[in-house]
Amino acid sequence: MAIQLEPTIAAIATPPGVGGIGIIRISGPNALVILKKIFIPKNKSVVFTSHRLLYGWIKSPVTNQFLDEVLAVYMQAPHTYTRDDVVEIHAHGSFVALQQILTVVQDAGARLAEPGEFTKNAFLNGRLDLTQAEAVIELLRAKTGKGLRAAVNQLQGGLHGEVQEIIDTLLKIKALIEVAIDFPDDEIELLNAAVLREQMQQVSDALNNLILAADHGRILKEGFSAVIIGRPNVGKSSLLNTLLREDRAIVTPIPGTTRDTIEECLDINGLPVKIIDTAGIRDTEGEEIEDIGIKRSKTKLAEADLVLLLLDSSMPLQKDDFKLVADTKDKMLVLVANKADIGRADFTYECGEAFPETKVTVISAKNDTGITQLKEAIFTTATGQGTDWAPEYAALPNLRHRASLVKAHSAVQCFVNSLTAVISPDLLAIDLQASLDNLGDIIGYTTTDDVLDQIFGQFCIGK
Ligand code: GDP
Repeated sequence: MAIQLEPTIAAIATPPGVGGIGIIRISGPNALVILKKIFIPKNKSVVFTSHRLLYGWIKSPVTNQFLDEVLAVYMQAPHTYTRDDVVEIHAHGSFVALQQILTVVQDAGARLAEPGEFTKNAFLNGRLDLTQAEAVIELLRAKTGKGLRAAVNQLQGGLHGEVQEIIDTLLKIKALIEVAIDFPDDEIELLNAAVLREQMQQVSDALNNLILAADHGRILKEGFSAVIIGRPNVGKSSLLNTLLREDRAIVTPIPGTTRDTIEECLDINGLPVKIIDTAGIRDTEGEEIEDIGIKRSKTKLAEADLVLLLLDSSMPLQKDDFKLVADTKDKMLVLVANKADIGRADFTYECGEAFPETKVTVISAKNDTGITQLKEAIFTTATGQGTDWAPEYAALPNLRHRASLVKAHSAVQCFVNSLTAVISPDLLAIDLQASLDNLGDIIGYTTTDDVLDQIFGQFCIGK
């Protein structure tokens, strides 16, 4: 009977578009066979040594047409990304050429890889645990240096190590409990409530630290969104331009010309901040397009985590300014007095009287003054920390990990609550196992196929 080999998969690994180089990746038992069918090395007597780059041409075995001049590398299992045999073909970065090569690779026996399938195979073959596989996605998506560092830490096994340490402690306690179940007469000596309580308190503290790291991690990795609002002509577009140092939004003295909303990403002290410029929010019976813009502004306001509310310091506070401040009462608010260069002398004082709860940052978007202070105000308002805040966690769990950590923590609490005068080892064993299962889910020991599909489905094809 023929042995059923696992499939050989292939995909374009570089992003679509024109580039200097484009890479096709092939992984699986037939990777080398496929390469030999389609690759014509310049040096005809060349040997396909593992991890050695070879120069030659890709030729379609069907049409005999030469498709591209390439470098090809064969990497023998297990020292590869997937732990299967891997071939990479480094072609010219033309999407059409890459598509044609991919078709030839498929004709030669590979099937198209699903999103994340290379990394999934690396996980299934034991090269990466689940937290490391997820770190690959986070690394690809990192928006700032801090986010990238967190992903690299996780890829190096930071989170795995911390979770594994907790699992090891729980396994030692589990062994004791199992002995107590098997030898009920010795139970009293084996299970000391005070000792168990102390050990589990340490586990509980470690879990709490990881949950806190997850909360900080969310803001470090994903950042937050900030919306710029204010009456027409207060300088919203000018501020966005100053912040981005690029002229993307329309800047004009005529009110209402920023018709639509614009989204950009800023790096504020390592935090990714999605910043949204809006058309002036005001109740208007004006033109239709502007109405749509204003409606969108209000939706964006509802979606944003933080509001940058601009005031025009060259004139007294207007009725609409008060209305806008009232509209943002559920949000993190940064009040900004713009046009300091032509500002009224007592404007800050008036703001202090009108809005005693909120500090005002004075800037001139036009002259680029006060922008550093504004960024500090944004950072401090969003994180509740000073701008020197740089939490160095070995691990920054994501939302999936956090959910499992919370469940593991509540099982630990149940365990501690069961440490009454009369200890029931059977009851303790149930809570302990629940805690272990949830921690196992994080690393991938016990993760179901559905969850795996969900995780790897987030990857792009070719990763
Ligand atoms: P928006 O309607 O709130 O987006 O306001 P704009 O950014 O289009 O700015 C409206 C007008 O105010 C333009 O003529 C800008 O040049 C001007 N402006 C913006 N910021 C400042 C500033 O700091 N100082 C002064 N003097 N003018 C500014």
